[in-house]
Amino acid sequence: MRTDKKITIAIDGFSSTGKSTIAKQLAKILGYVYVDTGAMYRAVTLYAMQHHYIDGHHFDVGKLIADLPKIKLHFVFNAELGFGEMHLNDRNVEWEIRTIEVSNFVSRVAEISEVRHKLVEQQQEMGRNKGIVMDGRDIGTVVFPDAELKIFMTASSQTRAQRRFEELTDKGQTVTFDEVLRNVEERDYIDTHRDDSPLRKADDAIEIDNSHLTREEQLDKVLDLVYEI
Ligand code: C5P
Repeated sequence: MRTDKKITIAIDGFSSTGKSTIAKQLAKILGYVYVDTGAMYRAVTLYAMQHHYIDGHHFDVGKLIADLPKIKLHFVFNAELGFGEMHLNDRNVEWEIRTIEVSNFVSRVAEISEVRHKLVEQQQEMGRNKGIVMDGRDIGTVVFPDAELKIFMTASSQTRAQRRFEELTDKGQTVTFDEVLRNVEERDYIDTHRDDSPLRKADDAIEIDNSHLTREEQLDKVLDLVYEI
């Protein structure tokens, strides 16, 4: 790849496949913008939880849809962390959106077409000038179907749940491995079976199963693909 040629890199895959780690590293090396679209769906979910539109018993979809114009999402770059932190209506929610409670509801919020429409529009706007690495579930299929490089990451659900479990316990959250595994499998199911933009590998995406790859090996693989373009 010529260094002056900016491209769009779409990274999709199941939850906890390490998409964001690779995407962040790539963006840093290439000097690109990194966008974690899962954070946007999580922030809308947090909003719905804070307004009691969703809990373990009910989900008032109509109220959330009516409130969509009031939900403002921004990434604010944190130089120390090296990525943009999610702000919901001008409040930093980067930590709150990573809890298991938000994870438990987010796939249900992400099924709603009106929510997807709003977020996809914002994502396409962020990528208008290319030079972007975006990760999610529908980036190569819906958000940037013309992306020059599409990666689809997979790993076994056990491996993914173990990674997620370690991540959450490292952050001091109280969860059990079984709870995390259940959440990972439930999200996989909802994400792949929803009517609007289900998670699937784009025909021209390159699949990387990282169950047995180190982070360095994955990064090398993806960088090779970038430099081949
Ligand atoms: O990537 P992360 O696990 O944070 O995403 C949280 C959830 O947001 C996913 O399980 C999925 O339901 C939804 N999502 C989506 N489309 C995207 C990104 C995330 O539906 N582009």
